Amino acid sequence: MTSSTFRSAALEREKRLRLLSDADRDIIRLAHDPLFPRLLEQIKAVGGCAHPVYLSGSTIASDALTGEVISSYSTAGEPGERLAVRCRNRRASVCAPCAYLHAGDTYQLIRAGLSGGKSVPEGVRERPRLFVTLTAPSFGAVHRFRNSERCRPRRDGGTCEHGRPVGCGLVHTEGDPALGRPLCADCYDYVGHVLWHAHAGRLWDRFTTAARRHLASAAGIPRSRLREHLVASFAKVAEHQKRAAIHFHGVVRLDGPAGPGDPPPPWATAELLSEAIHAAAASANVRTPESDAYGDVLLLWGQQLDVRPIRAFADGEGPTDDAVAAYVAKYVSKGTADTGAGVDYRVTSPNDIHAAVVTPHVRALMATCWRLGGLPELGHLRLRSCAHSLGYRGHILTKTRHYSTTYAALREERAEYRRGDTGPTDNPTVITESQWRYVGSGYTPGAARLAAGIAYDIATSRELAREAIAEERRWRDA
Ligand SMILES: [Zn+2]
Ligand SMILES: [Zn+2]
Ligand SMILES: [Zn+2]
Repeated sequence: MTSSTFRSAALEREKRLRLLSDADRDIIRLAHDPLFPRLLEQIKAVGGCAHPVYLSGSTIASDALTGEVISSYSTAGEPGERLAVRCRNRRASVCAPCAYLHAGDTYQLIRAGLSGGKSVPEGVRERPRLFVTLTAPSFGAVHRFRNSERCRPRRDGGTCEHGRPVGCGLVHTEGDPALGRPLCADCYDYVGHVLWHAHAGRLWDRFTTAARRHLASAAGIPRSRLREHLVASFAKVAEHQKRAAIHFHGVVRLDGPAGPGDPPPPWATAELLSEAIHAAAASANVRTPESDAYGDVLLLWGQQLDVRPIRAFADGEGPTDDAVAAYVAKYVSKGTADTGAGVDYRVTSPNDIHAAVVTPHVRALMATCWRLGGLPELGHLRLRSCAHSLGYRGHILTKTRHYSTTYAALREERAEYRRGDTGPTDNPTVITESQWRYVGSGYTPGAARLAAGIAYDIATSRELAREAIAEERRWRDA
């Protein structure tokens, strides 16, 4: 090869490299690393997690008596001397693999409280159990869709004080962006909506307290002694409605005083529980702090209340254990942005609110959070730091202690399964010494693309496996 052809070949290669994206170049760099196979293994081990966290450190298990090392692990030999750990985000829009796992855990957690399993006795199936939906009250007329009916028909064709029509009369379709938007934004009670969101968690607590009080008084027991007769367990998930107001879906179960393994007294029936739920939803309230700007506001639940028995056996009525668990699990993987009711990041200025990709209705709610968040008497509601979630600062899923298992227990069970542990690991003569520290998070552009590919492969093979099982079932049933 002459020096000129050599030079042009080198130029050609350089030109081609320049055409590559940052991610391509990064993948080439990573693939030349002798630890590349181990890097791929790590990404596979976290299921293709989109934003892993990295830890550096070691674990040594040794015999307490002899000092003999039984097992040891250190990140010294790993790529970058670190180990990737899942981000565990519940939102599918942030990390699809972790959200899938979280939704699965939520399903197990809710289902265990209804059907038993995961250390919950099977007797929970026979208890009084209800599926409850509690809504926010009306803050003003919004466009709505109900069984193809006309939206807010008004024959008189009147207008509000702002000169806007008080009726609509259109038949909206399900995906219509107008749905949930106020007929008149100036008539809409944005302050009430935001204050309701900010107190929704406390309103739920008042509701559970009121339900217990009703149960006690129906049985002629002082409220303080109800616990000696029964335990009322609650699990709830928050969901955004079209009008950007949250509502709660909850599971309520009655057990005896010893918890899930113990039946409640015979007087504690599903009918009485239903009565208690209705009474509690009607009476629970929270009064906001007095403010010069808006006075004080009494916050209540909306009129729409849905209470249904959960079907334990084939011949019962209402949704099944599985349907309820799947329903709840679906909501925990949704982010605020997925439902259009806010954004998934914190806003730090009115400019952020102005720039957010949301509807004018949601923007007005965010702006109201910002405005009210500046009032000293509302400082404890942290409305500015919750403007992205329209003032709601509660968890998506909450449950009382006796409802069922925990996310932590489900994760531990999965880790044990992966390690291949068969029995209790608490050998008293083994001492384990661990030292771990956080050393970073996220991927380089090339590793991010590899992770996305791995996540895709895992999701595809899961889908194929599901289809294969369904196919096999069809064959068997045919
Ligand atoms: Zn993740
Ligand atoms: Zn309408
Ligand atoms: Zn108006």
